[in-house]
Amino acid sequence: SLLDDHMKLQRHHVLKINKFLAADTRIQLSQVPTMEDGAARLTVRDLSKTDMGLLQSKELNQYILETNVYPREPEPLKELRNATASHPRKHMLTAPDGGALMALLLRLMNAKKTIEIGVYTGYSLLLTALSIPDDGKIVAIDMDREAFMVGLPIIQKAGVEHKIDFIESEAIPILDKLLEDPKKEGSFDYAFVDADKDNYVNYHERLMKLVRIGGLIVFDNTLWAGTVAWASDSLLDDYMQFRRHHVLKINKFLAEDTRIQLSQVPVGDGLTICRRLY
Ligand code: SAM
Ligand code: CA
Repeated sequence: SLLDDHMKLQRHHVLKINKFLAADTRIQLSQVPTMEDGAARLTVRDLSKTDMGLLQSKELNQYILETNVYPREPEPLKELRNATASHPRKHMLTAPDGGALMALLLRLMNAKKTIEIGVYTGYSLLLTALSIPDDGKIVAIDMDREAFMVGLPIIQKAGVEHKIDFIESEAIPILDKLLEDPKKEGSFDYAFVDADKDNYVNYHERLMKLVRIGGLIVFDNTLWAGTVAWASDSLLDDYMQFRRHHVLKINKFLAEDTRIQLSQVPVGDGLTICRRLY
C-alpha cells in the first residue's frame, strides 16, 4: 500500500515471474540478493510521489487539502507554491496543511519577532511575514540565496519584504552571533527549524536561549515520511537513512527535554511544537 500504481504493477509482475521460475522444473536457479548502491532503494522523491502523506491515504490527504487548506490558502502563498512547482528540489517546500497550522499559531500568540532556519523558496517565510504585524521582524537564514530569489518577487508583491532580514549563511554562526548580544536573549517569540536534520539538536540548544519563555520552537519533518516507525531503514537510500537517524535522535531528545512542553503533530511531514517553559 506504500507504493504508487506503477510500482504496484511492477511488483505484481515480479512476484509472478519469481513464482513461475521457482516452479519451472526445466531449470536450475539461484536467487541472489544484490543491491547496487543507491539503486532499488527508496528516495525522498519516491516517498513524496505517492501523495498519501502521513495518513497513508491519497483520498483523505486530498480531502483535507481540497476542503480546507487550498480554499483558505492566501493568494501569494499559492503563487509561491506554483512558482516552486518546476524547481528541481520542489519536494522541500513546506506542506500547505502544516503551513495553515503555523499561521494559526503565529496569530494565536501574537508573534512579532521570529527566526527561520531553512528558507528555500520562502513558503514558510512568506506565511510568517503575512501572519506577524507590520512592525514585526523575521531573521531568515539559508545559505542558498538562489532558491530565495524564486520567491522574493512574490514576497515583494505581497508587501511584506520589510519584515524580513534574509541572511545568506550557515545557521549556527548566525545564531551564535545573535547570542553574543545579551539584549537578543529571550527576545524572539517563535522559531521555525526546517534545515539540516543533523544540526537540529544544536539549533534547539541555541533557540532555547533566543526564544522567550512561553515562546515556540517548531521543528519540521519530525516524522520523516512515516519512516521513523519503520523497523528497518534498509529500504531507504543513503540520504533518507542519514536524515532518518537524526530525526529519531531529535525526537528522543525533545521527548526527554523537561524545559519544554511539546506536541508532535502529524501534518505535512510531521511538526513538533515546543513551548519554552523556563
Ligand atoms: N522552509 C522552507 C519552505 O517553507 O519551503 C523549506 C526549507 S528546505 C526543506 C531546507 C533549506 O535549508 C534549504 O534551502 C537549505 O539550503 C537550507 N539549509 C540546509 N542546511 C543549512 C544550514 N546549515 N544552515 C542554513 N540553512 C541550511
Ligand atoms: Ca521541511
